[in-house]
Amino acid sequence: MRVVRIKANIEIDAGDKTFAAGLLADLIAALRRSGPGDLLAITSTEGSVGADLEAWCRFTHNTLVDSGSNAGRTRWVIRCGAAPANSDLKRPIGSRLWLYTNFDCNLSCDYCCVRSSPTASRRALSLARVQRIADEAAQLRVSEIFVTGGEPFLLVDIAEILAACAVAAPTTVLTNGMLFVGRSEALRALSRDRVTLQISLDSPTPERHDHHRGRGTWARAWAGVQLARGEGFRVRLAATVSTEAEAEEFRRFLDAQHIADEDRVIRRIALRGFAAEGVALARADLMPEVTITAEGVYWHPVGAEDADLLVAREIFPLAESFAAVRRAFYRDGDHSRRLASIFNCA
Ligand code: SF4
Repeated sequence: MRVVRIKANIEIDAGDKTFAAGLLADLIAALRRSGPGDLLAITSTEGSVGADLEAWCRFTHNTLVDSGSNAGRTRWVIRCGAAPANSDLKRPIGSRLWLYTNFDCNLSCDYCCVRSSPTASRRALSLARVQRIADEAAQLRVSEIFVTGGEPFLLVDIAEILAACAVAAPTTVLTNGMLFVGRSEALRALSRDRVTLQISLDSPTPERHDHHRGRGTWARAWAGVQLARGEGFRVRLAATVSTEAEAEEFRRFLDAQHIADEDRVIRRIALRGFAAEGVALARADLMPEVTITAEGVYWHPVGAEDADLLVAREIFPLAESFAAVRRAFYRDGDHSRRLASIFNCA
């Protein structure tokens, strides 16, 4: 359940108004004052407004991104305008597989989309389940596996987990890069050909990175980058940014570091998990990328503990999980028109 209240650009207190009695006019007036991507919140004592808002969003190409009730009042949040298109849309569903191995983390970044932290309970997928997933993924011709944590290098058996995945498909592990020293044997055991390290670095200098992730984390992440490169790994740098200006600044840094395009990931903060600000994402904004956690099968890694992105509780057989995601995708009839992904995790 979402615990952070999404901040909206405009708040409408609709009282007991309905669409037929005043609310539609208020919405149109608010939209006139809004730009693409702005968030509009409507609070009402009329529960029936929800169904009308959903239908209205469908027809007007706005997106209902959140709703929650408290003391008899419901607050809906709408993002103005459709999501911008993404170039990765042709990737077949099921070609990418995401595994959330544990959820706990040595850091507690203020925008973590799955609320990982040192105090988050470990929800481990386990080596045995990962081995079975990898076997079945190979049969399903998965072409890329992404392993994420929380922080995967907290796990004592991370080398075995990654080795199992790498047999099935080229594997990328997402990490904050800070724990390689304590796991140097595990790191050295990994295949250089089949395992890529995607290390988070949010800015060219420590200030912004440390602001979100904690003091001293930039320096330790950068040391992790150097260590991984020194060990002969392919390293991909991944930045999470708030604005296009920050993204552009990071691109210049990557240019100066001679980082190839395929080893760069720059994404906006998603308004999920701990984030209080960021890009509001509804399921319809996201091209599905099958995501497995200890708790089930999710639509996309950006909301891998959010009820709106849960597809199935049962992981096995993996073929059925993939089929469930495909069925859900094709059921959402308007995807063919407004399909978009504005959030690339890798
Ligand atoms: S964003 Fe990554 S490093 Fe930060 S708390 Fe979440 S899982 Fe950990």
